[in-house]
Amino acid sequence: MKPLGPIPAGFEPIDGELSIGGRTVGAWVEEAGGTPLFLYSHDLIRRRVDLLRRTMPDRLRIHYAIKANSYRPILELMRALVDGFDIASAGELRMALEAGQNPALISFAGPGKRDEELELAIRHGVTLNLESEGEAHRALDIAEKLGATPRLAIRVNPSFELRGSGMKMGGGAKPFGIDQDRVAQLARSLIATGAEWRGLHIFTGSQALDASAIIETQANVLGLAARLTGEIGSPLPHLNMGGGFGIPYFHGDQPLDVDVVGGALAARIASLPAELSNTELAIELGRYLVGEAGVYLARIVDRKESHGQVFLVTDGGLHHQLAASGNFGTVVRRNYPAAIATRFDAEPVEEANIVGCLCTPLDRLADQALVPRAEVGDLVAIFCAGAYGASASPFTFLGQGPAHEKLV
Ligand SMILES: *Cc1c(COP(=O)(O)O)cnc(C)c1O
Repeated sequence: MKPLGPIPAGFEPIDGELSIGGRTVGAWVEEAGGTPLFLYSHDLIRRRVDLLRRTMPDRLRIHYAIKANSYRPILELMRALVDGFDIASAGELRMALEAGQNPALISFAGPGKRDEELELAIRHGVTLNLESEGEAHRALDIAEKLGATPRLAIRVNPSFELRGSGMKMGGGAKPFGIDQDRVAQLARSLIATGAEWRGLHIFTGSQALDASAIIETQANVLGLAARLTGEIGSPLPHLNMGGGFGIPYFHGDQPLDVDVVGGALAARIASLPAELSNTELAIELGRYLVGEAGVYLARIVDRKESHGQVFLVTDGGLHHQLAASGNFGTVVRRNYPAAIATRFDAEPVEEANIVGCLCTPLDRLADQALVPRAEVGDLVAIFCAGAYGASASPFTFLGQGPAHEKLV
């Protein structure tokens, strides 16, 4: 037996079946046109943003990193709930604009921005988080040709990283950002061209559950930003402090204590160095905002046995839920939270392997999981599917196509 991850709060049975927004998942599947289906809860997302508003200092702005989930209705909802979007491509810029986001509230990070992408961003007045000196020069050239004043920030590659984070994006040699000791010089030269100086972006990692690691990193980020601002010699309009707030995916994971993080940040903000006294402060979050609010539903199309093990074969798989299969940045495969949705409150009685329909041994959704006895036609739910599911899975693989999606 291998344990399943913890099912997030807010998912209750109705007549024994998993429900969201007051209706059973079976009813939603029917309305959405079938399985596989990503179902996202409006209410859970709203409650998550409310929790952050209550626990974080008032001065802190909350941005949404849309790569976590760029489904149009989610973007429209998030636009109303948060203070800005962070994007990483022209494709995401178009999605953000189509969802009605104000370009002045969008910042664009990501290594390898092409000239067309820089141009589109400059035309719309989106802030560019510059990732290298080369990119800075291309942006200045493009702005000059357009006769536009570019809004420029610098992404810093700090010498520290977010301890315990799932994906490290700072510290040492990295393709992201500009090494911290070269930032001041570049910033001064950008300001000298007459560009609109928007400030610094310091992102150090993702998926941290340890409050003390986030607190330590935020202190380091504020310290570095103050020091760089002193070296640059101009006020810092905006500091994107990164994010890194994680969610529990696996057995034994404890939720991040945002009360503790918010308290420590409030104390630090109360005694900010003078360099940052008028700086807008923001964090950028993806999975923490939407990850636990989504569930992926697939239908069991076959029940079979092999060498004494039960296999529940579904019509879904890694082409929609690459991360749950263990093939998106994990070293050891562990089970996401999962359940037989149509028997949500039944007693678990057997060990089963829940797999996808793809012809590859990588396509596993839950290994040796203790579940109620399930039959062909039952629905399987994989939780924590609101982030990096549909937006980060290879749906064209084996000609499968995308899943349905629905925000309810
Ligand atoms: C991916 C990414 C995020 C979002 O990360 P989450 O773990 O989803 O919160 C934020 N900022 C940057 C720069 C990123 O690359």
